[in-house]
Amino acid sequence: MEKTELLYEGKAKKIWKTKDENLLISEFKDDLTAFNGGMKSSEAGKGALNNKISTELFKMLATKGVPTHFVEMLDDNNMLHKACEVILIEVIVRNIATGSLTKNLGIEDGTVLPFTLVEFDYKNDALGDPKLNDQHALILGLVKYQDELDKLRRMAREINDILKPYFFEKGLKLVDFKLEFGKDKDGNIILIDEISPDNCRFWDVESGESLDKDRFRKGKGGLKVAYENVLNRILNN
Ligand code: 5GP
Repeated sequence: MEKTELLYEGKAKKIWKTKDENLLISEFKDDLTAFNGGMKSSEAGKGALNNKISTELFKMLATKGVPTHFVEMLDDNNMLHKACEVILIEVIVRNIATGSLTKNLGIEDGTVLPFTLVEFDYKNDALGDPKLNDQHALILGLVKYQDELDKLRRMAREINDILKPYFFEKGLKLVDFKLEFGKDKDGNIILIDEISPDNCRFWDVESGESLDKDRFRKGKGGLKVAYENVLNRILNN
């Protein structure tokens, strides 16, 4: 399948049209951004690592019955996937408090939450991805019905229930992550975008070391080695 026309360029991916209107290609970029584009860099090989990690995770989730947009990995940086109507809600799942939760609510960093927290952010760079409650989402028309918001939460919890033990077996704590969803041509809500260390936080069970984009956000270095480490753990079962 070949790229025909650039549909959209985001911070971490370019989305290309193909000859088939139902299929798109995501090209994973090496660019790194944080704090809504306030911090920018690039790491050669990062895009390919995220493509491979996302491919493995989408395949694994499909075997557990989670519907995703994934079709196939085309080459190092390119993934073929279904074309969807994107739901402009970032679904954030948190098992352990860190990042903006710690900053906004004063919960001590590293606190294991009494239950999994699911939050919605408005996917809107110009507004800095603000928090949404259900009424905000409905007033903005991001979805039509409350049922759809309930479904997003249910799917996010199901995905967490699969990913959390999967990573724990590989010696990684799944601290938190961001998911995106879309509607396929039949109107079904399916998982889209990517699942990678760009949008998940992973802490090594033994050392507590971050193996994700926090290395960049906190200016720690070693980002590529950390992402390779995550991929190797996934591939080595
Ligand atoms: P926080 O709200 O603490 O900054 O992020 C929570 C989790 O969601 C982290 O795993 C983070 O990587 C992910 N996340 C939240 N917002 C975004 C976003 O706009 N882009 C990406 N790539 N990840 C996000």
